[in-house]
Amino acid sequence: MVPVLVAGGGLAGLACATRLHREGVAVLVLEAGDVVGGRVRSDVVDGFTVDRGFQVLNTAYPALQRAVRLRDLDLRPLPSGIRVRRAGRLHDLPHPASSPTAPLRAMASSATGLRGKAALARYAGSVLATRPRRLKERPDVPAGEAWATLPSGLVRDLLVPFLSGVVLEDDMTTSRVFTDLMMRMFATGRSAVPAAGMQALPHALARQLPSGSVRLGSPVAEVRPDRVTLADGTAFEARAVVVATDPWTAPALVPALGTAPAPRGVTTYWFAARPWRGLDGTLAVDADGSGVTNSVVLSASAPSYSTDGRALVATSVLHTDGRARTDADTARRTAAALHRAPDDDWELVAAHDVPFALPAMTAPHPLRRPAYLPGAGVWVAGDHRDTSSIQGALASGDRVARSVLRHLSAPSRPVAPHRSTR
Ligand SMILES: Cc1cc2nc3c(=O)[nH]c(=O)nc-3n(C[C@H](O)[C@H](O)[C@H](O)COP(=O)(O)OP(=O)(O)OC[C@H]3O[C@@H](n4cnc5c(N)ncnc54)[C@H](O)[C@@H]3O)c2cc1C
Repeated sequence: MVPVLVAGGGLAGLACATRLHREGVAVLVLEAGDVVGGRVRSDVVDGFTVDRGFQVLNTAYPALQRAVRLRDLDLRPLPSGIRVRRAGRLHDLPHPASSPTAPLRAMASSATGLRGKAALARYAGSVLATRPRRLKERPDVPAGEAWATLPSGLVRDLLVPFLSGVVLEDDMTTSRVFTDLMMRMFATGRSAVPAAGMQALPHALARQLPSGSVRLGSPVAEVRPDRVTLADGTAFEARAVVVATDPWTAPALVPALGTAPAPRGVTTYWFAARPWRGLDGTLAVDADGSGVTNSVVLSASAPSYSTDGRALVATSVLHTDGRARTDADTARRTAAALHRAPDDDWELVAAHDVPFALPAMTAPHPLRRPAYLPGAGVWVAGDHRDTSSIQGALASGDRVARSVLRHLSAPSRPVAPHRSTR
């Protein structure tokens, strides 16, 4: 018998397993896929490193700092400013939360005078000056509603284009508590990718486990409080079972979870292009309604993503009703315009359609869902139990591990309800 079985080897399952291992508890991770990492995965295509959907980690994520040594990831930070296209013109801006008045200055035509500036300063100031714990205590409403006092041009031309690439929707129905927390992270940390691709993160977690702790190609078909059965009928017994599968498969294993959250989808087109004059790694967003949510020359920040000297451009498009809003051709033309580049020699290296990228966090969104489900007798970890992010997945895995540890050290007592320590 293994003390703890974890179904799912994404970030949440791995964070749970590594914490248990560090505390001296043996654990076996059962992963359905052929590699760990779940939604964080990288491929090498024609010598280019392409992540399965453009994503970055943020160096300020507290759970990331707890889970791995950042220096082991060989991080390549992206520039902290952003570029916005509005009415066909490109505006290079400092980070929206790093300098409250800079975006208004740069986009003077969007500014609405002193009242607007004061409102923006209040918003940015409160996000930056307020401790995360206090941000979490604010009434949760849709981000779009929370921004009602800001100048409409600023919301339309900057906040929505920028944050739609983070929450993968642009109606801004997402929890304002989450968007505020993310804005704070962006202002206090750096967005970065590991030199070897985003999959370096789950690999760094898996390396912390003794060999044999992860069993790949092992889809879990059934879970009980003390037993897990694989699809091929193999059964394992344990003192505690953790379900760390994605939000859309977890309810099949744990019906008590109820209906799965709505998915947010994104398609990322990866283009290779001959380097052009003025090329840089600034994240560019589009306020002109092309359907492209953001585009970045990733090889400018992480040269190892390209091995033939060409620039590698990741261009992401939101989904509507499960489908990308624009095709590769439109994405290519839009991206070239966003980067002030000619697009005659751009080659499509890969296209990643990810219809199930993030669980929606429509407001009001509880930031913590219980680690343990008494009715099912199992623990549940994953981004859908905290926030839809790398931070949320890692924090959830760690939180579940701590709850399991309490249970194992006091097996005769009922599991205490979780109290957040962050
Ligand atoms: C395209 C994209 C862009 C993103 N961008 C960002 C970003 O920039 N910043 C950020 O912070 N976050 C981003 N995210 C979110 C972040 O990647 C996820 O929140 C996080 O990886 C979720 O981890 P998880 O462990 O909760 O779930 P998952 O990664 O889904 O892991 C679940 C695991 O369970 C396995 N599994 C499923 N069913 C079974 C079964 N029956 N038996 C055994 N195993 C099973 C799966 O194979 C998978 O490995 C992005 C996500 C995507 C997809």
